[in-house]
Amino acid sequence: MHPTITSKLPQVGTTIFTVMSALATEHKAINLGQGFPDYPMNEALSLLVQEAIQKGHNQYAPMPGLPALRESIAEKVAFLYGTNLNPDTEITITPGATYAIYTALTTLLHPGDEVLIFEPAYDSYIPNIELNGAKAVPLPLTYPGYKIDWDLVRSAVNDRTKAIILNSPHNPTGSVLDANDITQLRSLVQDTGLFIISDEVYEHLIFDGKQHESMLRYPDLLERSFVCFSFGKTYHCTGWKLGYCIAPEALTREFRKVHQFNAFTCFTPAQVALASYLKNKEAYLSLPAFLQEKRDFFVNGMQQSRFDLLPSYGSYFVCAGYKRISEETDRDFAIRLTREVGVATIPVSSFYQKGDDHRVIRFCFSKEQRTLEQALERLVKM
Ligand code: PMP
Ligand code: GLN
Repeated sequence: MHPTITSKLPQVGTTIFTVMSALATEHKAINLGQGFPDYPMNEALSLLVQEAIQKGHNQYAPMPGLPALRESIAEKVAFLYGTNLNPDTEITITPGATYAIYTALTTLLHPGDEVLIFEPAYDSYIPNIELNGAKAVPLPLTYPGYKIDWDLVRSAVNDRTKAIILNSPHNPTGSVLDANDITQLRSLVQDTGLFIISDEVYEHLIFDGKQHESMLRYPDLLERSFVCFSFGKTYHCTGWKLGYCIAPEALTREFRKVHQFNAFTCFTPAQVALASYLKNKEAYLSLPAFLQEKRDFFVNGMQQSRFDLLPSYGSYFVCAGYKRISEETDRDFAIRLTREVGVATIPVSSFYQKGDDHRVIRFCFSKEQRTLEQALERLVKM
């Protein structure tokens, strides 16, 4: 007899990001699918990491993360959002934001709990909830504005609802929370036991002068939140898989119990480098303009095409309808686009549990200008 495994995720295959990146490589297509920059990361930061290695910072950092890095994060949060954090008890360095979100869910959830999420949703949320024996309750964002329907949220909350996952700026749509959303959220959670997991990996990638509505701005929201960030997005180094989770002391204490028996700690040299590099405000304050220029270049170029672009106010992404070009499903269309036109994208139905297909695909514009030019040349011919 051979051992057989009972899958904990029987419905799950390989993520669409891996599938589309592999297809892009196979067909030598321009990869506007998986979200990562094709331009180099900041040179000064990469030199600081090399220096940290050479100076011998190569052993385990403390479990919650390097103290100097946590202090730099606390300074940055006070500067940006006006909130004073205790770096010893409220900030934990993690191997990326996905891990931080998974750890927060594992910290909170017991079998039978429910978690509200908004679809289209970043693809790790539902499996992360289900691995904890809990149930994801997906609520559709309005189409095509991709806003939260707060009446729907209120009607979905019940005794089993443990948490709500927010993501602003939003992957895949580029929608952002505004002041009204915060008002609605505050009144929803007030006097309840609801927790918030806030995925803010695109905090600096926000356009058109909009303010990032971080949970860190609002003490009454922060008191029930795990707020998750990624250095990979901010410093153009997605392969570093380094981030952090901010949560009040009592929540952080439990979060660290899970973390200490999983990763325990993160890559030390990058933490040493970031501890000093985070003090360089210009590096992150310049990001909205830097990325907005790329969004504008891509969106303007696409006006010559038969795609119907949807608005993007943040993130690496812009979505587009293609009904004037084809009636194919978004998956078939995205595969054909990669094979025949040489541009890889992500079909947005992948971000829905039931595969809702509005005939929309996602483009990643965090690319060199010449990459975007080459892609545009191909797309406008369709
Ligand atoms: N959340 C969202 C919405 C993302 O787009 C990403 C990007 N990969 C992540 C989390 C994960 O960040 P990390 O690579 O730091 O795990
Ligand atoms: N966050 C990236 C995206 O949305 C990819 C992350 C991944 O490959 N898991 O494209």
